[in-house]
Amino acid sequence: MSPELKNLIELDRIAQEIARLTDEIAQLPKVVAAIEAKLARARAQVESATKALKDQESQKRKLESDIQDWQQKISKFRDQSLSVKTNEQYKALMHEIEFAQKQISDCEEQILIGMEGADSYHKALKDEAELKLETAEIEKEKEHARKVTAEDEAKLAELRKQQAELRSQIDDATLAHFERVSAKRKGAIAEAIDQKCAACNVMMRPQRFNELLAGQSLVNCESCGRILFHDPNRAAKESDRNRTGSYTIEKAWRYVADESGPGRFLAFVNAKHSCSMRIFDAATGQALDKVVKKKMTFKEAFRDELSAGVHLHIEQPNLDEECAVALPPEVLEELQLQAGIAPGASTRVSA
Ligand SMILES: [Zn+2]
Repeated sequence: MSPELKNLIELDRIAQEIARLTDEIAQLPKVVAAIEAKLARARAQVESATKALKDQESQKRKLESDIQDWQQKISKFRDQSLSVKTNEQYKALMHEIEFAQKQISDCEEQILIGMEGADSYHKALKDEAELKLETAEIEKEKEHARKVTAEDEAKLAELRKQQAELRSQIDDATLAHFERVSAKRKGAIAEAIDQKCAACNVMMRPQRFNELLAGQSLVNCESCGRILFHDPNRAAKESDRNRTGSYTIEKAWRYVADESGPGRFLAFVNAKHSCSMRIFDAATGQALDKVVKKKMTFKEAFRDELSAGVHLHIEQPNLDEECAVALPPEVLEELQLQAGIAPGASTRVSA
């Protein structure tokens, strides 16, 4: 392989890593904002419950003082009834007493209704203690996000330095072509395997493939434009792998709807001696959980989850590196589109 091609491969790796880190840095504030919004909603609930309780308390005091007033009136009417002269006057007083008693029982009923309503406010206030714990947890998460961002930025600075150094070693025309492909596609370099471009899977003409094997000049894929390289050791590596009992990385994606929320995206992968299921929030792409099962394939371990969800098909991202905090935006967008949950998306769903 020519030194120039080696430089290009390294430059491509750096460009992709820069893109990944830039994405991650952009993603973290969104994750933090989503967490903070949730916290703010919980706080608002506690505040409104506190206010409602106060209102209810003063309403109760008012009703109690009304009751006292009516009771005083009743005893006054009773006193008067002892000294009335006519039957008519007596009846009128009894009528007044009856009316006052009705007012008292109305007030008492309203007090009871208010007390029943207060139960839910008390529950909201009890949640306040939990809220305080959650706040501490969120502060930790934010601190973690800040740390990751700082680390990413340091890595980015280092990568940009390496990038500049490499670019200075590559001639202008090649660099211009590299940049053009980079701007359009994820990865400007692709391996040619079995005479095919491994990125777009289009067959190469035999003459082009021979040029690539000769290694005298740079060869581009005529379909996607990527600069191609050929790894003569691949065939040997492949047969090595087969001898030692290789495993194939299998993967699957599902969308599971949720009655109360946006639902979840599930990512399944098999590894050498285990398998895992990752769970992402379908609205924000935030990583929610990862379940690992040892000595099983995901088809065995997550049978129910696999059969319940909507099948999705995407270009597999690197789950450990790119999806640890949240799904990359372009992956999230594609998944939402396929699941039919993106705003304005079609309900194109492959079952
Ligand atoms: Zn291609």
